[in-house]
Amino acid sequence: MNEKAVGLILKEQDYKENAVILTVLFEEYGKLSLVAQGARKMSSKNRGNILPYTKGEFSFDYREGKTMFRMKTAHTLELYRFLHEDLNASLACAVLAEVINAFLMEGAEPSFSDHCFKLFEEACTAWNTKHPADIVLAVSLVDVLKTQGIAPDVDECVLCGDTSVSAISVNDGGFLCASCAMKRNVRFSEPMRLRAFRLINKAKLEHLPVLEEAMGSALKECDLLAEFIRTHAGLPLRSYTLFQRMFQETGPELPASSGVTKGA
Ligand SMILES: [Zn+2]
Repeated sequence: MNEKAVGLILKEQDYKENAVILTVLFEEYGKLSLVAQGARKMSSKNRGNILPYTKGEFSFDYREGKTMFRMKTAHTLELYRFLHEDLNASLACAVLAEVINAFLMEGAEPSFSDHCFKLFEEACTAWNTKHPADIVLAVSLVDVLKTQGIAPDVDECVLCGDTSVSAISVNDGGFLCASCAMKRNVRFSEPMRLRAFRLINKAKLEHLPVLEEAMGSALKECDLLAEFIRTHAGLPLRSYTLFQRMFQETGPELPASSGVTKGA
């Protein structure tokens, strides 16, 4: 049976003899691996249609219970051109793709893979329409953390429930009140940082315009969320190391001496 299915390419790996293995998140089947034979040859007609972080239509012989298939054809439906041309957006997209790929198993619950498909598609669209790469990444990471039950608790002190909070503790899983922060030896955060972190953790991608008004950058929030993922899910998150190193700040407000210390 020659199946045609729409999917988003999360990852591309070289494979023997000019072949590549694509990790594709399908709307219909969840995450599958497709082997594209000869795809690295100049003459391959599939070559230009298997770029990571694009949406395409793929044909292969689907069989239930299998997770790896031989790809026959690929046809790009959505290239997300700006996403690929913009360094910040492509770095951020690589982080989200790595996180989704790590959490989403082949053969996962359809509702979860469906959720991941929609999130990744929505995030790619947001990056492609020039929304700030760091803000889109922060909101998307929170979304994935929520699906894993490891999102930060930003409603109260995670240790005693006090609603007056003074610090963010990655190890404890969210906000701490002043006295718990002192006991745990966690340094206080500025109120604006606490507010920004809470805002990011409550937002969805549909709230991007509001977030962009409220905060110039979400880099510090991205750093914290990456630490949450490393600490509570044990992912190395190599793509985030690259994101941190290469990201170029372009936000409208960059006070040279705001007194905010780096690396909250
Ligand atoms: Zn407390």
